[in-house]
Amino acid sequence: MERSVLRINREAVVHNVREIFRFSGKKIIAVVKSDAYGMGVRCVVPILNDLPEIEAFAVACPEEGVVLRGMGVRKEILVLGGLLPEDLEAVEEFKLTPVVSDVEHLKVIGDRDLKFHVKYDTGMGRLGFLNEVIEDPRVVGVMSHLSTPGDREFSLIQIKKFETIVKRYPKGLKVHMESSAGIVYRVPFTTHVRVGLALYGEKPLRDYPLRLRPAVTLKARIISVKDLPPGHPVSYGRTYVTRGKTRIGVVAFGYADGLMKSLSNRGTLLYKGKEIPIIGNITMDMTVVDLTDTDARVGDWVTVVGEGRTFGDLAKIAGTIPYELMCNVSERVVREVI
Ligand SMILES: *Cc1c(COP(=O)(O)O)cnc(C)c1O
Repeated sequence: MERSVLRINREAVVHNVREIFRFSGKKIIAVVKSDAYGMGVRCVVPILNDLPEIEAFAVACPEEGVVLRGMGVRKEILVLGGLLPEDLEAVEEFKLTPVVSDVEHLKVIGDRDLKFHVKYDTGMGRLGFLNEVIEDPRVVGVMSHLSTPGDREFSLIQIKKFETIVKRYPKGLKVHMESSAGIVYRVPFTTHVRVGLALYGEKPLRDYPLRLRPAVTLKARIISVKDLPPGHPVSYGRTYVTRGKTRIGVVAFGYADGLMKSLSNRGTLLYKGKEIPIIGNITMDMTVVDLTDTDARVGDWVTVVGEGRTFGDLAKIAGTIPYELMCNVSERVVREVI
C-alpha cells in the first residue's frame, strides 16, 4: 500500500559502527538528534542500543531524550542543546545528562544532584564557554566541536585549544570532540567520538579513509505512466517542455516527502539502475520523470537514494549537504529495517 519507503540495512549500520570503532579506537556517542537525522529513531536506535561499541546517545533537546527512554534505552543520553529552566523536570525524571554551555545553564542546575558535561567553543562560534573552567565534582565530561573539519590547519588549532582546556580538568572525565568528519584527526587525548552521519554510510569528507557501507535506500512508486506529444509542458510553471515524444512517469514523492524543489530539472532518480531525469518542477506530493526508453509501469518502484547513490550525491546536485536532505524525509515515508 505504501508509496514510499526508507529502508535501513541493519548489517550495514553494524558494519559502520565497527568500522568507526576500529578506526578511532574509541567508544562511540551516537548522535541521533532530529529523529536520527530523519532516518527514524524507532528503526535506528534499537540497532545501536544493542552494540557494545555504542556507549551513549546524544540528542538535541530533552523531548528527544524522553523518547529514547520510552524505547527502553538505559545508556547515557546527552542533551546537546543547552538547559532551560523548563527542561529540568524531564532531565531529572528521565536521567538525561545535560551539556552545559552557558552560565545560565549552570544556574538552572543550581545545587541539584545532577551530573553534566561542559562544552567549549574552540572555534565553532556557537555553543560553549571560551576558556573558563567549571570546577565542580558533578562535571563528568568535557567536549568541543570542530567547525570546519575539512580544514586541517584550523582543526589543529581547535584541537590544541581544547587540549589546553582539558589539561586544566581532573583526569578520568569523558572527553569528546570528533564528529564523523573529525574522526580523521585521531585526537590523542579524547576518550570518545561523537558521530551521526557516518552511521548511515554517508561520507562527511571527499577523501574519507573509513570503509563505510551505505545503509539506507529510499524508494517511491510510479503512480502514472503516459506518452506526451512533442511540445507538451510538464508540471507547474511549464519549466520543461517535451522535445520529442516523451514517456513520462509520475512518482509519488515530492518536496513534502523530502525531495527538494531545487532538484527540479536537475536531479535524477533511478529506474532499474538507470538514471531517469526529473523533468519540470517537483511538486508537493509528486515528481515527474522521463521514462522514455524504459519499460516502466504503474506500480513500479524508483530509487531516490540507494543502488550506489547516496544522500551526499543528491545533495551535491541540490547545492546542499546530506544532513539537510536526510532530515527532510517526511513522516509519511514508511521506515523499515531489513
Ligand atoms: C550533530 C552533531 C554531531 C554529529 O555530527 P556528524 O557529522 O553527524 O557526525 C557531533 N557533535 C555535535 C555537537 C553535533 O551537533
